[in-house]
Amino acid sequence: MPECWDVVVIGAGPAGLTAAQVAGASGLSCLCIDRLGPGGELINLGLLHDCPDLPPDTTGADLVTRLMDAATAAGVELAFGEVRELQRGEPRRIVTDDETYQARTVIVATGLTPGRLGVPEEERFDGVGLSHCASCDGPLYKGENVVVAGAGEWAAQEALDLAALAGHVTLICPEHEAARLSSGRGRQLAGLTNVTVIPGRIASLEGAEGLEAVVIERAAIQERHPTRAVFVQSNRRAALDFTRGLLAVEADGRACVDGDLCTSDEQAYAAGDVRAGAPERIASAIADGRRAGLAVARLLRGRDGEQQGGR
Ligand SMILES: Cc1cc2nc3c(=O)[nH]c(=O)nc-3n(C[C@H](O)[C@H](O)[C@H](O)COP(=O)(O)OP(=O)(O)OC[C@H]3O[C@@H](n4cnc5c(N)ncnc54)[C@H](O)[C@@H]3O)c2cc1C
Repeated sequence: MPECWDVVVIGAGPAGLTAAQVAGASGLSCLCIDRLGPGGELINLGLLHDCPDLPPDTTGADLVTRLMDAATAAGVELAFGEVRELQRGEPRRIVTDDETYQARTVIVATGLTPGRLGVPEEERFDGVGLSHCASCDGPLYKGENVVVAGAGEWAAQEALDLAALAGHVTLICPEHEAARLSSGRGRQLAGLTNVTVIPGRIASLEGAEGLEAVVIERAAIQERHPTRAVFVQSNRRAALDFTRGLLAVEADGRACVDGDLCTSDEQAYAAGDVRAGAPERIASAIADGRRAGLAVARLLRGRDGEQQGGR
């Protein structure tokens, strides 16, 4: 392992793996770190939608294998660890619980945090009623009543996927975001007889061992709704806590970037869902990864050229 990497990529989802592969193929030494292992959101996905460059039957697992193989073939080292801090200075320092890595440049590709409900005792129900993955956990609730919490098209997609398995799906979306379900996948939901969309929020969870019911708050009225499963897609935000304010962010918390995906720190780039304006699509995460990898390669080639010219 080099003492100082040309580039450390934080996050090994589609954006991070692609950025790392492009950097590696450009001759840079590259380490790609993830807190969970490679794949990002893809590991939760069955059949992929809206990926025009991939065969129609491609699954999340297929794409992870493809991206990982390409990255390792380009000489990228993969590491496991949660990055706790990105430190300024020359070189930049990337701190995990067990290691401190040094890098000339950094590509941040950490995506969005997992969904949260923001209710009391939420952690108690993680894995015993709360899930973030319909394709993994949906089959456990075949024929039952389940709940999806969240707005946006991927929450709607989770509801569509679950509607094919569950007895009934209730999609609870914040009142101010209900309009986001009026087109595309939201409109498809309206055509299903076993789906109900409720504008409101989950106010609390009930259950002794596992989840037994949620309390739904709608226009200041609370109603108990029995269910054993809630699929949580609400309150996701850019996973940037470890930057501790080092990078400028937009009002929604995502990293500000220029046309090359360079952040407010000239040695740090941001790619994929974590950057401002990301369309939250696999294809655009991959395109971002390519753009950031090439931009870093250009930057470092320029610097190395200047140093050689100066000698
Ligand atoms: C339910 C659902 C279904 C979807 N279906 C589709 C679909 O069919 N088609 C489509 O185009 N898009 C789909 N999307 C959107 C798509 O999954 C995302 O746009 C895409 O995965 C973003 O890629 P990314 O690399 O930016 O982030 P992610 O895939 O989220 O990867 C980020 C990685 O960073 C890691 N990480 C985070 N913080 C740290 C840290 N501090 N240290 C180390 N590692 C860290 C995470 O563990 C993760 O592996 C779906 C999204 C959801 C939620």
